[in-house]
Amino acid sequence: MRTLEQLVRPNIKSLKPYSSARDEYSGAEAIFLDANENPFNDPYNRYPDPYQRKLKAKIAELKNIASDSLFLGNGSDEPIDLSFRAFCEPGVDNIVSIDPTYGMYQVAADINNIAVRKVKLTSEFELDVDALLKATDSNTKLLFICSPNNPTGNSFKKKDIERILNEFNGITILDEAYIDFVPEKSFLPELSKYPNLIILQTFSKAWGMAGIRLGMAFASPKIVSVFNHIKYPYNINILTQQKAFDLLQNPEAKDEWVNILNNEKEILKENLSQFSFVEKIYPSDANYLLIKTEKPLAIYDFLVGQGIIIRNRSTVSLCEGCLRITIGSESENASLLDALKKYSS
Ligand code: PMP
Repeated sequence: MRTLEQLVRPNIKSLKPYSSARDEYSGAEAIFLDANENPFNDPYNRYPDPYQRKLKAKIAELKNIASDSLFLGNGSDEPIDLSFRAFCEPGVDNIVSIDPTYGMYQVAADINNIAVRKVKLTSEFELDVDALLKATDSNTKLLFICSPNNPTGNSFKKKDIERILNEFNGITILDEAYIDFVPEKSFLPELSKYPNLIILQTFSKAWGMAGIRLGMAFASPKIVSVFNHIKYPYNINILTQQKAFDLLQNPEAKDEWVNILNNEKEILKENLSQFSFVEKIYPSDANYLLIKTEKPLAIYDFLVGQGIIIRNRSTVSLCEGCLRITIGSESENASLLDALKKYSS
């Protein structure tokens, strides 16, 4: 297995990071005349903690991990981009990704001028582990697995993910954005077994905080330290740090929402299966359903006309005819079903 030192880009390894005022002095009580801040308009006048210590301690406690294995980003999109900047030499290195999957891996790769080697899932939306490993070479730095996968909704088999973790000679990024809907399938309890694993989670889904932009990357303290060196100094603003800390006092709210949404998903599935135009509903571990229909665009357009917006995924690999429907509240889902009844009549 290549070590972190062998995988990090040479310029990043030798980088002298920006040292902010709050890096140089982080004590709480003092007269702060070091950061050219305005003394008025407390508390918004002060720069936030660059390492989000108070918030990280709370998350570490909830997740049962050490704080130094946690990086916080402006959404989990930030650590996706940082992974390219840390490990991939533009125009030289490549990444391997499953297909179909979350679109930002490709966009981040394109921004960073990194080739993406896409490996199709099987027709059952499972990992083709042999093909994934075969697609890698000595310039493959990252391998992206999203589980539960967006847009297919399924989680991958534990033994398949383990094989990749054991056999891929680079950094595996396991995107668990939807894992709170199936917490028992998370790899987080096994993080310390895999020094080249980065697990992404987010507060945007089950936690209901997409608007405050807060994502998590769990990894070895060494990888977290690389991210800390290259991130914007104050990447998480004080409003987000404070609001997330407050909302995390009540994790039971998240558990309750997960129960409601998982239950609503079953009800929606049952009701959708009654429509003759729904050919297939794929199994989902996430807060959305992927359905196959004969006329995805006609249904999509009809629903827009009814003021209901779903996602047309019919042009995505292996998803011909597919629509992705996010699970809403009981009344939102009822409105969707009413509109679909109108469509079918
Ligand atoms: N990963 C996956 C699989 C996603 O679907 C999304 C958002 N749609 C993200 C990451 C990004 O989440 P965030 O809001 O934390 O940037």
